[in-house]
Amino acid sequence: MQSGDIFTRSEGQEICYLGEVPSLVNIDGELMPPAQARISVFDRGFLYGDSVYEVVRTYGGVPFEIEAHLRRLVRSADRIGLSLPWGPARTAGEVERTLEAARGEDPPDPEAAPWNAGERYVRVVMTRGAGEIGLDPALAVDPKAIVIVQPLHGPPASAYRDGVKACVVGVEHLSPRAVDPSAKTGNYLPNVLAVREARAAGAHEAFMLDRDGFVTEGTTSNVFAVRRGAVATPPLAAGILEGVTRGLVLRLARELGVPAAEEPLRPADLEAADEVFITSSAREMLPVTRLGDRLVGSGRPGPVTRRLHGAFRERASRPARP
Ligand code: PLP
Repeated sequence: MQSGDIFTRSEGQEICYLGEVPSLVNIDGELMPPAQARISVFDRGFLYGDSVYEVVRTYGGVPFEIEAHLRRLVRSADRIGLSLPWGPARTAGEVERTLEAARGEDPPDPEAAPWNAGERYVRVVMTRGAGEIGLDPALAVDPKAIVIVQPLHGPPASAYRDGVKACVVGVEHLSPRAVDPSAKTGNYLPNVLAVREARAAGAHEAFMLDRDGFVTEGTTSNVFAVRRGAVATPPLAAGILEGVTRGLVLRLARELGVPAAEEPLRPADLEAADEVFITSSAREMLPVTRLGDRLVGSGRPGPVTRRLHGAFRERASRPARP
């Protein structure tokens, strides 16, 4: 294991670092500090993962690709028949309001990548609500809308510079026959267990396979392989989340004239790749330079990853809010 694989503060992925200023929670429109944020133990999000969510990050304090995230939130809710307490306009407004109220100075972090320093992590969660205990969704009577704003602790600069370790895990990806993969729901137990397996191997991210042995996605990221200058990523039909960052990276590749395919990948394709990288809102693009015990390519972030990340950085740079 090398330092930088497992980021001590937040892993740069599912960041939950309560109690830190300026973190703020918005429940049904009411703003409160994290310590006062309470949800019923009868809430179905808590009991069954019966909820949908999105993670958005800011650049210059402005949420990035929020429209795409809120479209996906609506799609997720439709897929599981959850009636959202807020529509996209109200949600965007509440995100804005919570970000505004959470403004403040973060303590300096010398390890932070410059594009992550001082930025915010925003998690929007909508649950089907509380009600009498029982699986029947009709028992839900009190849907909740939640916005959590925290400092963004993305991967440190060293992770972008040197890459991270990932591994293929034994935990099988949730079958699309079990949960529609285009729905980003609170049902993350397989991913939790996959992260557990990855941590035991000293890896930052875990790649899950489907029951036929094809690579699906990371626990909170999409995966790309680069071979002879062309990028490939598993198709949506592999039963993966349609990552907002994945979509942007595919568009950027095509704009730059980098051949980009959505095609089934086997673990052997990742092992034989010249470069591997993962994408997610909180991490942008992160080079994977070690896969299990092997080096990926030269063991250093490769030229295609660097070029695409450069284009991504340009696209994400927005003027700071006045
Ligand atoms: N795949 C899974 C399972 C995820 O949970 C996430 C993000 O949390 C992603 C992919 C990446 O999606 P996005 O780029 O929209 O953040």
